[in-house]
Amino acid sequence: MDKYKPVIGLEIHVELKTSSKMFCQCAADYFGKEANSNTCPVCLGLPGALPVPNKKAIEWTILIGKALNCKINPVSKFDRKHYFYPDLPKGYQISQYDEPIASHGDLELVSNPRHPRGVRVGITRVHLEEDTGKLLHVGAETLVDFNRSGVPLVEIVTDPDFDNAEDVKVFLEELHTIIRYLGVSDADMEKGSMRMEPNISAMRYEIRAKSEKKLPNYKVEVKNINSFNFVKKAIEYEIERQIDLLKVGKTPAQETRGYDSKKGVTYSQRSKEEAHDYRYFPEPDIPPMTFSQKYINTIKVPELPQNKVIRYVHQGLKYIDAFTLTRNKKLSHLFEVTSLKIKKQDNVKVTDIANLIINKKEYINLSEEVLYTKLREIKNPIKTDEKELDALIKHLIKINKQAVEDYKKGKENAIMFLVGQVMREMNGKADANIVRERLILILKSKK
Ligand code: ZN
Ligand code: MN
Repeated sequence: MDKYKPVIGLEIHVELKTSSKMFCQCAADYFGKEANSNTCPVCLGLPGALPVPNKKAIEWTILIGKALNCKINPVSKFDRKHYFYPDLPKGYQISQYDEPIASHGDLELVSNPRHPRGVRVGITRVHLEEDTGKLLHVGAETLVDFNRSGVPLVEIVTDPDFDNAEDVKVFLEELHTIIRYLGVSDADMEKGSMRMEPNISAMRYEIRAKSEKKLPNYKVEVKNINSFNFVKKAIEYEIERQIDLLKVGKTPAQETRGYDSKKGVTYSQRSKEEAHDYRYFPEPDIPPMTFSQKYINTIKVPELPQNKVIRYVHQGLKYIDAFTLTRNKKLSHLFEVTSLKIKKQDNVKVTDIANLIINKKEYINLSEEVLYTKLREIKNPIKTDEKELDALIKHLIKINKQAVEDYKKGKENAIMFLVGQVMREMNGKADANIVRERLILILKSKK
């Protein structure tokens, strides 16, 4: 029986959260706005309107490229990619063809406890383009909303380096974390600001083994998936479907398919047998861009989650804890600023901080000061001299008759007043819970 090896590559679209759109001054944040209220002649694609590239979007694309170890190309340009669809009235999308902003990068999957062996995934290219309008199907009618049209869109293309769906999921989760760390996009999949398209094929093992470069003679692309789990399921479904065809001597059709998440199946959308002719040509309204090394050097990549994991482990954290903390910029930030507060005499370790942040979800909104104080209290419980405390309580009961009366009448607030009195006399050098316990005990014994 022949064995088959899946060959999988990815295309990922990420909307940038710049303040304005890619080629005009309209707001890039279109979410929730009244349909077609966020448009102008440029992003509507009216004839004669001149596009002016968004500098921030270009800078952020370079940043993503650098974070993915890409070569930043010193010369880059925009091209027109022609196709006909109602979400793009001018008949072409301004994109990049043969001179993308960044190319030849990679991302190593190392910082995942589920994936100890490490896998290198090549990044073919990172380019910049404009998003299209959105079609809304209302009953038998289809409406178009152009608010999204012209929002800066970064396309990340990987080499066909994956051979299983689990690695794809791990890669996408890592990429998602990186994009959020860079602060260039919400990468919110529910809102469609990160959209994924796996292309999947398979070939006999011995053919693939002879030359790692050799690719199958067909490719199936699954369009616009917006969940990591759905990507994984779509790939698993496709691999099975395609291998079943290959086993009986058929070649799966080269086509674009959709994923039906309710049924868990992919379905044919359009045939790609005649390779699309987009008639790419250079965008005549935008001059080519040149980037000096000096400019590229000014764009700095912050410490990325994978590097943070390594650093945290060096600081004494367990791998799984370091991984958990770095999945979220807010958690890792809180961990780091709280760690800076550590003083030897406080008996607090970085592992204590990590445990508290990971295990007490309600603490993640605290400031580092409050969090550290809580930890210091936990690690250094106040040992109260019981005799001294009891004597003080008895004394205060004597001189606060009204509060004692109130307590006996069942006014629970009275006890808090008394605790407050004790704490004040002790200059806070007592545990409020212990004081409360002793107070109630002594009051009850006096009843
Ligand atoms: Zn506009
Ligand atoms: Mn694209």
